[in-house]
Amino acid sequence: MNVLLINTSRDEYNLGLAKAANYWRETHGASVSYADSVPTLFPETFDVVWISAIFSWDVPALITHAKTALALDKEVAVGGPGTFGVQNKIELATGLKPQSTPDPRFEHQPRHSFLQTFWSRGCPAKNCTLGFPRRPGEQPICSVPAIEGWRYTLYTDVQPAPVIMDNNLSALPREHQELIVRKTLEADYPIVDANSGFEPRSFRPETAARWKRLPLKAWRFAYDERAELPQSYA
Ligand code: SF4
Repeated sequence: MNVLLINTSRDEYNLGLAKAANYWRETHGASVSYADSVPTLFPETFDVVWISAIFSWDVPALITHAKTALALDKEVAVGGPGTFGVQNKIELATGLKPQSTPDPRFEHQPRHSFLQTFWSRGCPAKNCTLGFPRRPGEQPICSVPAIEGWRYTLYTDVQPAPVIMDNNLSALPREHQELIVRKTLEADYPIVDANSGFEPRSFRPETAARWKRLPLKAWRFAYDERAELPQSYA
């Protein structure tokens, strides 16, 4: 079995595809390769094509690649967080239902190291107006709770990585924040990126003291709405 993985968000590390590659190798004994597009001149070199978009603006490319692979009669799957808000459009164009949420087949891989990691998924969105639809039937502005869950899923056994991808670090239980900081410190990275950062509403002086122990590349605050202005100066 030859599996081709295409990351349409080409300039970005694609954690989902890195996990998918392990999944195919370990559970199917597959040979896995990456490509920027479907190699139409050599269709005999692959059987399965998985295409991922991290951002919604990469979805047109995802649709193009999926249609090409389908025309070659390959087994095709599409997904990634960029597909979440445009699932109907993708399904209409390709007939494929995208895997827009973390894929339970390979989401949790505690034995493997990656360039990025999630120590938690989801966000309880307490008091956050962006996590809730403003009118019935409307999509909320922030899709994290809808994609990853309205409650936290906590991972205590993942391998540390220099890029921490969790969506709301400051609202995590204190013990979990301590675990993340301790294990990441032990890995001794010269620089650490808390990618999605901290939410002003849940950021406290002790949060700053805790995370200051890491060599953070920058302090990123999700200052998303004007009501958070006072907290952002906390
Ligand atoms: S904006 Fe931040 S706090 Fe609000 S729902 Fe999204 S991740 Fe949670």
